Amino acid sequence: MTTAIEDVIERIVSKQIDKAQAKEHFETLSDAEKSQLLSALSDKVEGPEVSEEAPIQAPAAPMLKPALERSLSEHHLEVIKRWGKQFGQFAPKSKELAMEAQHYFVDQRKTGGLKKCLKPLQYHITYHKGEGAYLFDVDGNKYVDITGDNGVNLFGQQPQFIKDAIDERMHRGYPLVGYTEELFKAARLFTDLTQHDRVLFTQSGTEAVMWACRIARAFNRKKKIVTFDGAYHGLSDTVLAFKGPGGISMSGGLGTLQEFADELIVLDWNDMSTLEIIEKHADEIAGVLVEPVQSRAPHIQPAEFLRELRKVTLEKDIVLIFDEMITGFRAGEQGCQGLWGIKADIATYGKIPGGGMPTGMIAGMQKYMDFVDGGTWELEDDSMPSLKRTLMAGTHTRNPLKIAATLATLSEIKRRVDTDPDNFYPALNRKTEHLAIALNDFFKEKRVPIVIDYFSSLFRFRFLDDANGVVRELVFILLRMNGVETSVSGNFFINTEHTNEDISVVIEAVKATVNTLIEEGFYSEPEPEEIAEQAPVAFVTEAPQETQEAATEQAVTAQQMDQLKQLIMNDLQQFQQGGH
Ligand code: PMP
Repeated sequence: MTTAIEDVIERIVSKQIDKAQAKEHFETLSDAEKSQLLSALSDKVEGPEVSEEAPIQAPAAPMLKPALERSLSEHHLEVIKRWGKQFGQFAPKSKELAMEAQHYFVDQRKTGGLKKCLKPLQYHITYHKGEGAYLFDVDGNKYVDITGDNGVNLFGQQPQFIKDAIDERMHRGYPLVGYTEELFKAARLFTDLTQHDRVLFTQSGTEAVMWACRIARAFNRKKKIVTFDGAYHGLSDTVLAFKGPGGISMSGGLGTLQEFADELIVLDWNDMSTLEIIEKHADEIAGVLVEPVQSRAPHIQPAEFLRELRKVTLEKDIVLIFDEMITGFRAGEQGCQGLWGIKADIATYGKIPGGGMPTGMIAGMQKYMDFVDGGTWELEDDSMPSLKRTLMAGTHTRNPLKIAATLATLSEIKRRVDTDPDNFYPALNRKTEHLAIALNDFFKEKRVPIVIDYFSSLFRFRFLDDANGVVRELVFILLRMNGVETSVSGNFFINTEHTNEDISVVIEAVKATVNTLIEEGFYSEPEPEEIAEQAPVAFVTEAPQETQEAATEQAVTAQQMDQLKQLIMNDLQQFQQGGH
């Protein structure tokens, strides 16, 4: 199968379905390739598998339909033009800087979600400063910050205690290669809080995950790493593969070799039947790498699945790696491992414990972590570190400035957890839950197909009919003009600095945004045949429970996915027969 076909299939079967884009790619294929693609796709869309135990309730009234990119009306385009002008007046300096800098500044962030028809609205704003719950841009606009800097800011933007710690260290200098007292204190505190034996500091989360896989391979001398569809583990070649047709692992795109992807087994998330695959290939599998709650699907909280995964990996001598980059110190100081009483062999961290500095951590049981430095030894006897070591080093792994931020952050977490154990994390979760419930009630009342999914203090907008569409992007752009800053990744976070008033500002801004989109015709009544096609929407109006509700939601998602795939299939078939 050629890369072009794989590419189209990947786009169709991945969770970022975009019919228009898939068709565009389809057009570039030869007739033979088109037939090949259609037959490959038929294999993948053989009827939705919906659990009988997951009753799905049809909504009382049909959901409104979002306007699609390829069918925007003259009116829509006029409105977009008007908003483009308004945005230009709202953030003129940001506009100028963004357009000027792109000639010499390289960054992929600016292309996330970029749509031709929305371009004038999609330049990124330039921040002037961050303070607690707020961001300020160079044009003087103030935003409630729900970006959480991709999940880093548990205490809001640059809290004073972190700035003080960095200042103090800066003052004394920051020798990079040796050890500092803070380094040992931070390592001690990290292991105390997470209840892991030993910890290694890395330069980024990506590096932590990449090295954790290396430790697993060094430990049991096996090759393959299992990951799960929909997870994100950074961008190292070690973990960059997607689940392709027929379950094969496909490399992550240009420049990423298929040879790397071949060493990964990408399985369906939260699917007990994958355990059999792991058992069957246990002789080849060095490690299972898992985001305990995928940040792209926070409503799925698969404690049972993870418990079973723990059992299988223990039985089969496979290293279980929890990637707690986002959940670590957010779901609690022991992350999801503490929440569900599941101990991973190795866990990777970054974000929150880095206090805003570039960092990552690998922590785990001694028998695994000893593969980095050979373990411990005494000075007065014959003991020596083991020679079974794998290579790991980096100029900034122990950078004292970031270690100062880490020590300050961990100390503050410990102080808060010790002084108010029942309230520190629960209070953050309650604020998030309140926001999610208020918005889900609103979406339901307005019949817009959006759901807020959430876990601990992470939340996400799920656009049911418009995964990568124009309306999704417009929501985030209009939110910005309504005083709320969101992030390209689509993950949003509540922090300790968000007051109830800030939460209300966010809720009202979302309501105003959606109302504007409805008024301007970006949501419309569905046609009768579209009503028949509509997948039921599972609105979460109370805290998601880890068991039954997660299963129901997943069944709904699976059904929606299959319906979408079916729709695309039909479209492509019609297209091939000259119907479009
Ligand atoms: N793993 C997970 C689960 C992540 O969310 C991220 C970053 N979003 C990474 C790994 C990579 O971390 P970094 O961006 O620090 O390289």
